[in-house]
Amino acid sequence: MAGELYVVATPIGNLGDMVPRAVDVLHAVDLIAAEDTRHSGRLLQHLGIETPMMAYHDHGDDRQMQRIKDALLAGQKIALISDAGTPLISDPGYKLVREVRQSGFRVIPIPGPCAVIAALSASGLPSDRFSFEGFPPHKSSARIKKFESLAKAPHTLIFYESPHRIVEALEDMIGVFGLEREVVMARELTKTYETFLSGSLADVHQLVLADPNQQKGEIVLILHGADEEAINPDNDEQDRVLRLLLDELPLKQAVALAAKVVGGQKNSLYQRALVLKGGS
Ligand code: SAM
Repeated sequence: MAGELYVVATPIGNLGDMVPRAVDVLHAVDLIAAEDTRHSGRLLQHLGIETPMMAYHDHGDDRQMQRIKDALLAGQKIALISDAGTPLISDPGYKLVREVRQSGFRVIPIPGPCAVIAALSASGLPSDRFSFEGFPPHKSSARIKKFESLAKAPHTLIFYESPHRIVEALEDMIGVFGLEREVVMARELTKTYETFLSGSLADVHQLVLADPNQQKGEIVLILHGADEEAINPDNDEQDRVLRLLLDELPLKQAVALAAKVVGGQKNSLYQRALVLKGGS
């Protein structure tokens, strides 16, 4: 009997979102490793599950990891759950899954609720490309640095944020991404007071300031990616210079000179020159 680790998603608010396969697995396994056994105990009690539990945290002591590995070596099946949603997504489990997989055991996902995916799926913002950025740093200076590193990302950006920091985080976002960048704030997903606020950063900031209820509960922020202008503000100037030089010089020389005049990568200027030449 080979040991197996199941990574099991649990509800992010609405208990009706517990998937039947997750319930079956939690019944069937020998041991449940939980982020907080008291918190998860309430869910298991609600589901009538009496499987033994142990606490697991990535930053816990090595004995937790050793106990799980010993149990797997003895052929036991173990489920990993966190307080809410999908383990490892801003929750414990990464170290465990990596170690267990590297030790040659099967790791089996039981998919289900996850706030980042639920928020994105109903946000109306582009979902073809996105990055999940977790919680922004707590301190404003570090948060601004983090936002600056993402200012030119063209894809949708998704953050988790605490209600205590939501106003400051929106203010720092305005400082870096500008008043007009489109944002959706998804709050209390799957719960009674589920709310989506959408509009420009300036709009959503005003709505949150005006209504203290918007500064409560659990929050996901989904930010539109940068548009072409933000990614390359000198586009117009770059095109103007390239066009002038392409009229007078062979393509390679025009690109080399344009790179000296407007700066920028020769490769991307070369690609742009091909487009401009094709269109002229
Ligand atoms: N593992 C979880 C998941 O799959 O989404 C996330 C755990 S993380 C510690 C908790 C954060 O997730 C919250 O602070 C909030 O940003 C977000 N979150 C969790 N549940 C939520 C909900 N019902 N509505 C909105 N955001 C939620």
